[in-house]
Amino acid sequence: MSKKGFFTTNLHSDRHDGPEHGVLHKAIHPSVAYGYEDARHLAEVFQGKRAGYNYGRQLNPTVTALQNRITKMEDGIATVAFATGMAAISSTMLSLLKSGDHLVASAFLFGNTNSFFGTLQRLGIEITFVDATSSDAVAAAIKSNTRAVFVETIANPVTQIADMQGIGDLCESKGLVYIVDNTMTSPHLFKPKSVKASLTVNALTKYIGGHGNALGGAITDTGRYSWDKYPNIIDTYKEGQVAFWGITQIKKKGLRDMGASLGPEAAHHLAVGSETLPLRLDRACSNALELAKYCDQHPHIRNTFYPGLESHPQHERAQQLFGKFGAIFSIDLTDEVDCFDFLNKMDTVIASSNLGDNRSLGIPVAHTIFYEMGAERRASMGIADSMIRFSIGIEEIDDLLQDFEKALGK
Ligand SMILES: *Cc1c(COP(=O)(O)O)cnc(C)c1O
Repeated sequence: MSKKGFFTTNLHSDRHDGPEHGVLHKAIHPSVAYGYEDARHLAEVFQGKRAGYNYGRQLNPTVTALQNRITKMEDGIATVAFATGMAAISSTMLSLLKSGDHLVASAFLFGNTNSFFGTLQRLGIEITFVDATSSDAVAAAIKSNTRAVFVETIANPVTQIADMQGIGDLCESKGLVYIVDNTMTSPHLFKPKSVKASLTVNALTKYIGGHGNALGGAITDTGRYSWDKYPNIIDTYKEGQVAFWGITQIKKKGLRDMGASLGPEAAHHLAVGSETLPLRLDRACSNALELAKYCDQHPHIRNTFYPGLESHPQHERAQQLFGKFGAIFSIDLTDEVDCFDFLNKMDTVIASSNLGDNRSLGIPVAHTIFYEMGAERRASMGIADSMIRFSIGIEEIDDLLQDFEKALGK
């Protein structure tokens, strides 16, 4: 297959993937069930001997078209889509891990992923949380029952950047599954395959969809891991090419049995949104860099956390891995400014919990998304009570700068 650019490949994906009536967008297929003229064909579809659709919980043509787009974006071999990013993460972990297994995870995780990992611990899966900015910390945590390592590219809200390459080399040498949540960077800025990731997670809700109008999640197998080394593959799925055993188990256990399936309408919105991903994200990154620089020198802001600042501990790593620095940054205010009053004075930036929208959003994290984990864990993650996290959108930079000036009472 020819290697065309990111835009070209994505924009023409549906047209080249078996078009119906010359459509340029894959049609929205609401049908839950699929009828067969020959009942034998239905049986063959169920037995995996014939390609085809059996039931909407497992497969839908509109969703398949989106999965194909994500696979191309990530340069992977296969993708399974889910109803949300959390559904993708939970279904994958529950499909691949069992009681008595050990997982090494970054200590700096999206709040709900952190909470879900607590559920895994209650199910008898051991988890060691480590400072994943150092691959030595990951190496020190590995035990004989370790099955996988889970990290995020840019952590939320303090923007730590894991030692993606070091952990990739380590996982390869130890035969471990390396799972990278690529939500914050998206395949436009970073392909986890390039650092030997086995599986990549994308919350499609965020930058890939980009418009805050549809939820979705995806797991892509990069083709880097040889699943015959993985002890938890169920015999039934050890058929065909080894490279597909893992994603097949995720599809059968995680999607078919647990059932958090993506709907075709959402898949359509996400696919259309994905077409402008590089345009939107480049502009949002450039806006975020300017705003972070502004905040960094402001006397009423104690700390600014953004990988694009030279003072950021992993600034060079971010430059090397991603080229750009993402569109999320956080600030700690000094005692003179109250974080709620600050947000209330803003007009362009909306007080909202989402991220990756075209609109700029801000949230006082300690009082909202990181509230449930308690003060002690927040302190260990570097989350101050006065912290505000911003997800910067694609508005004109002057309007955003004015909003920050207004909120700081200038
Ligand atoms: C939002 C997010 C998720 C979860 O995605 P949802 O679609 O909201 O369930 C997972 N990981 C990261 C890094 C996220 O930002």
